Amino acid sequence: MSILKIARMGHPVLRKRARRVDATDIKAGSFQQLIDDMLATMDEYHGIGLAAPQVHEMVRLVIIGIEEGEDQPLRVIPVVNPEVSPVGASTVEDWEGCLSIPDMRGRVPRAPRIRLRGLDREGAKLELEMRDFPARVAQHEVDHLDGVLYVDRMKSLDSLTFMEEFGKFWQKG
Ligand code: ZN
Repeated sequence: MSILKIARMGHPVLRKRARRVDATDIKAGSFQQLIDDMLATMDEYHGIGLAAPQVHEMVRLVIIGIEEGEDQPLRVIPVVNPEVSPVGASTVEDWEGCLSIPDMRGRVPRAPRIRLRGLDREGAKLELEMRDFPARVAQHEVDHLDGVLYVDRMKSLDSLTFMEEFGKFWQKG
C-alpha cells in the first residue's frame, strides 16, 4: 500500500468531473490497489472520507468513513459510482473540513438523511440509508466527483475559519 499525494484547493484536478467506472474494471488489480491506497491515505491523514479526484484519479470512487463510537475503529466503505438522493427536503447546517482544504472548517447545509447507491469493491450493488454525520460525509465526497468543494455549498463564507480560530471562537465546550 502507498500513501498518495492529496491535491489541495487550487489544483485543477479538484474541479473536473470524474468518469464512471465500468463494473468489469472493479476487480482489476490496479483498481483494487487504488482502493487500498486511498484507505491507507485517508488513515494517514486522519480523514473521514476521501474521493478519488483528491488523489489525482478521475474515477467515480469514494471512501466514506462512519464513526461508530469513540474507541471503535472507523468503519470505512468504498463506493464505486455512488449516487446520493436526499430523503425529504430539509437541510441542516454543520461543520465540514476537507483534506484538500487543510486546516480549515466551514458550515455547510446538507440533507440530514440520504439514500446512497452504488457498487461495493466486489462490484456488487450497494444501497445504504444514512443519517446525520455519515450522510454529510457521503454528500461531501460525492460532490468531489463533480468538481464541487464544500466552500461552494456554504450559504455564507462568514463561518469559514482556520482551525486555531475554530477552537477559539466556534467550538462549543
Ligand atoms: Zn473533501
